[in-house]
Amino acid sequence: MNRTKDSSTSLRIAIQKSGRLTDKTIALLEGIGIEFDNYKRNLIVKTRNFDVELLLLRDDDIPEYVQDGVCDLGFVGANETQETGADVTPIRDLGYGKCRLSLAAPKNGDIKKPEDFDGKKVATSYPNLTRTFFKERDIDIQVIEISGAVEIAPQLEVADAIVDLVSSGGTLRANGLVELDTILESQTQLIRTNKELSPGKKELIDRFLVRMDGYQQAAQSRYIMMNASTSAVENIKRIIPSMKSPTVMPLAEDNMVAIHTVIPLQKFWTVMEELKEAGASDIVMLPIESMIL
Ligand code: AMP
Repeated sequence: MNRTKDSSTSLRIAIQKSGRLTDKTIALLEGIGIEFDNYKRNLIVKTRNFDVELLLLRDDDIPEYVQDGVCDLGFVGANETQETGADVTPIRDLGYGKCRLSLAAPKNGDIKKPEDFDGKKVATSYPNLTRTFFKERDIDIQVIEISGAVEIAPQLEVADAIVDLVSSGGTLRANGLVELDTILESQTQLIRTNKELSPGKKELIDRFLVRMDGYQQAAQSRYIMMNASTSAVENIKRIIPSMKSPTVMPLAEDNMVAIHTVIPLQKFWTVMEELKEAGASDIVMLPIESMIL
């Protein structure tokens, strides 16, 4: 297999240059062993140990760069992909940058439900998703397109209500707005171009995904170790939601064993209580860096 750098087979990956998704995306790329410098200063960043270069872009430009095949992959919120209607394929949900595109209106006003938007001015940075939502419900609105600080539009009397991204809802509340309905639930996704790719690029994408899947699975799992008497092993095995059969090793002390296994993180605390009751002691939990199954 030829793994030397060659621009015709190098993968190009688009990521957000600076914003909410940048740090987590950079951490993910570093976590799967991709080494690079100076991503803050350069728009194109070469990596040292994988045939990939990173393009640092505004996040609303990413779906179209991937659609046009300028980039093969992109890390971007589903909100941007859906707003642009780009012809790309989301291939992984990444679980960060979670938010929702919501309708909101002044708390003490007369807009209480989507139907009350009829005939109103709605400020948003998402004109396409907003128009589609209201059109599907036969509600006639006037879209006021604004690129930032949408939540102050009603106070400035630029609009009667808004459609904007919400995560905790704190910004809406601080601006006297109440959330009325959700157009879209969003999170960061890995998107792939639908343009035909060379066999070399396809192979690189497969290798990239193996690493990413291993990293994500590891982040959601923990390695646990415990000691128990041999007579407790069968009960303990029944409790552990293990990936495979746990490792059981004899200890220096007679009739005692060490049991090692990997479990889903969200099960750890409930399982730990049951394990103690079943006779496990000295339970240790460790993070896992990556898992290739
Ligand atoms: P930004 O860096 O503010 O342009 O946000 C980039 C992306 O972060 C958005 O396109 C969304 O996918 C995601 N995001 C998550 N929570 C929020 C939020 N409360 N407001 C705006 N964007 C959010």
